[in-house]
Amino acid sequence: MTQEELFKSLIAHAKEYGFIFQSSEIYDGLSAVYDYGQLGAELKNNIKKYWWDAMVRLNENIVGIDSAIFMHPKIWEASGHVGAFNDPLIDNKDSKKRYRADVLLEDYIAKLEEKMDKEVEKGRKKFGDSFDEAQFRATNPNVLRNKSKAEEVSKRMNDALRANDLDALKQLIIDCEIVCPISGTRNWTDVRQFNLMFSTQLGSVSDESGTIYLRPETAQGIFVNFLNVQKTSRLKIPFGIAQIGKAFRNEIVARQFIFRMREFEQMEMQFFVRPGEELEWFRKWKETRLKWHKAIGLGEEKYRFHDHEKLAHYANAATDIEFDFPFGFKELEGIHSRTDFDLSQHQKFSGRKMQYFDPETNESYIPYVIETSIGLDRTFLAIYSSCYCEEKLEDGEDRVVLKLPAFLAPVKLAVLPLVKKDGLPEMAREIMKDLKIDFNCQYDEKDSIGKRYRRQDAIGTPFCITIDHQSLEDNCVTIRYRDSMKQERIPVSELKQIVGDKVGFRNVLEKI
Ligand code: ATP
Repeated sequence: MTQEELFKSLIAHAKEYGFIFQSSEIYDGLSAVYDYGQLGAELKNNIKKYWWDAMVRLNENIVGIDSAIFMHPKIWEASGHVGAFNDPLIDNKDSKKRYRADVLLEDYIAKLEEKMDKEVEKGRKKFGDSFDEAQFRATNPNVLRNKSKAEEVSKRMNDALRANDLDALKQLIIDCEIVCPISGTRNWTDVRQFNLMFSTQLGSVSDESGTIYLRPETAQGIFVNFLNVQKTSRLKIPFGIAQIGKAFRNEIVARQFIFRMREFEQMEMQFFVRPGEELEWFRKWKETRLKWHKAIGLGEEKYRFHDHEKLAHYANAATDIEFDFPFGFKELEGIHSRTDFDLSQHQKFSGRKMQYFDPETNESYIPYVIETSIGLDRTFLAIYSSCYCEEKLEDGEDRVVLKLPAFLAPVKLAVLPLVKKDGLPEMAREIMKDLKIDFNCQYDEKDSIGKRYRRQDAIGTPFCITIDHQSLEDNCVTIRYRDSMKQERIPVSELKQIVGDKVGFRNVLEKI
């Protein structure tokens, strides 16, 4: 199965089992907006808890807040979003489809890279064991030609984006002979800027002054509360403020399922430090955040850093943690050293002092900030896509299994009476009544035991227990493990301990 087919199957699976639905589906859907179903909401909550506990609970100098989505419109002028939160767009006149100019160019570069990889594969086949990939890449004329082309396009694109030169972007699209994937033509409009913020009106005021925005990031709610939190918590620098919440962006290229949505959730933390110490903290947070990702257990090779060469005007260092999604390595989290830009801007626009008095140095200053900003939905997709497996079993049967880490699984334990009579359901209910206080349990008595196991595999339940006639006599049940499908007999009294040890957050939080 190709990666594309696998991706399609997992999207279908997410719908079939109540993880993710297209928004407003009965009205033919709303593009790039999704609803989380009964199991999706559970999984999402577990991811949030993991992030919150790791950031807020384990760090005495980080506190969490929950600021409003609507904020004073001046905030977005101060932050630069009104003036510069734009995407460069281009339309194809024949298909009437709209694209992000930089995405068209990035796709073009990705195709060149694919060509290079294919050439390398050909070489590997031809030379067998004696193949030296590094040497091949350094000498093969086809690889070198594509590499130099990719570098040239990437440089021209970055220069044009940095200089906000929209004509140069269009010229580059023409020079690369990029065609519209729908119409196949090169009949392009000019490139123009499009602001990504959604706006609406406050109350009864319908003129310009009543325009407010749906926040495009949660960070500004932290910056404008910086002094409120610092004073009321009496935290001393260095300290952090964390928040989980919705953000809204009118994304033009909305694709790849929940990777790029118009309404999504972010988990952000702003860490306030002394000026001059920010790069040290930037390095520390890079390391800590990568550890957080790796502790989930999806495989260390799935993550990589992508350090930014092109820095935003307010940043003096920036990196992305990229994840190997089914469509390649893409940004999952951004870590930015934002200098004192945001707080200085708010001081300027609000007229309020945003300074901190440092009792150790006896100085007042505007703190510098390290931001860690991760997409909750992208983390969901990273986990879901890595854990989705279609397996062929030894007996020739197929099974779909979500190999979710136990601490994130929506349902931890399925309680299954072997038959619907002879007092087995009653005993099963009794066990469930006790355990559901500790974990999310599901009771199921319908269909054969095999079918019930498959249903639980498909939603990632790490443990199933079966209550049979012997259970009534010896108070033992059969526990079945999702990944190995191994079964063993254990006393009911030990269940809580066995399951609890595996599904708790302790094992993972200890690794960070
Ligand atoms: P991209 O370059 O992919 O558009 P970005 O650099 O604009 O992302 P940030 O502004 O740094 O993203 O936002 C922080 C995080 O929020 C991202 O790493 C990503 O996980 C998440 N995120 C941003 N935009 C979206 C979106 N439209 N849908 C889902 N998640 C998003």
